[in-house]
Amino acid sequence: MLYLQLFILLRWFYYSRLDQKVIKLRVHVFIIVILFLANIWVWPNIVNSSDEKLVVNFFDVGQGDAALIEAPNNFQVLIDGGPDNSILTKLGLAMPKSDKIIELIVISHPDKDHISGLVEVLRRYKVENVLATLVEHDLADYEEFKKLIKEKSIPVVLAKTPMRLYFGESYIDILHPFEVPTGMADDINTNATSIVAKLVYGSDSVLFTGDLEDSQERGLLLKSLDVDSDILKAAHHGSKSSSGEEFLKAVSPEYAVISAGRNNRYGHPHQEVVERLKAFGASVLATSQLGDIVFESEGFGWRLVEN
Ligand SMILES: [Zn+2]
Repeated sequence: MLYLQLFILLRWFYYSRLDQKVIKLRVHVFIIVILFLANIWVWPNIVNSSDEKLVVNFFDVGQGDAALIEAPNNFQVLIDGGPDNSILTKLGLAMPKSDKIIELIVISHPDKDHISGLVEVLRRYKVENVLATLVEHDLADYEEFKKLIKEKSIPVVLAKTPMRLYFGESYIDILHPFEVPTGMADDINTNATSIVAKLVYGSDSVLFTGDLEDSQERGLLLKSLDVDSDILKAAHHGSKSSSGEEFLKAVSPEYAVISAGRNNRYGHPHQEVVERLKAFGASVLATSQLGDIVFESEGFGWRLVEN
């Protein structure tokens, strides 16, 4: 398209038999149009390749979870992929067009609302690493996901605290599970096996909790793990079996993000959880009301990006 526009402009400039004055005017118009086109094409790439900025996207994928961390230098970490292929549109808009590499996918736990969208992500992106547990699920999507990992020889790292993963200046601390969990989804409570990851960039932090429940939240406190964070991805879509008082007091989030579908059949988020989060001083933001929720940081304070 750009080449076609340039071609038309060049024809207009060279093939007209006009006096000097008109030619001069057309040279100026030509230069202005070239600068304008260059601005459209070059500027987004400059913005996308900012060396300092870290972006966290909590995508509106309906009733499920999917969050993309874009660390400086185009280093992407996808935490869960939501229940369907809506994640593809979200990634397409959030990631630079030329970047088809996701450096790390984290599967908080293998339930449908967190992993089904990841199958197509594996097909369309070059995924360099996967962080997971050994919990099994007989979901067709999870079987397909594991098959693709094998075919593409993607390294799988097993999550277990303590573990710190660096992405340049930022890092993720794995705060849960304490031992790599195993077992079939039918026999165990998969929510209780959720990977909890704390992202830190300068003075800024986000706590990703998967679908962790109240008793495991207390388990983190008993281990004296540093859960204090600026942004909390409230566990289990704002369910009342999560986000206990002691835990919220320790996290003391400035913002609480709830990832849930509009009018979902579970009634997420529960009103009492929303009230609890507010009581501990958090601004509560829900994807079911706001759509995608995006934060930016340069390491010294979060900025909530307006949609
Ligand atoms: Zn869930």
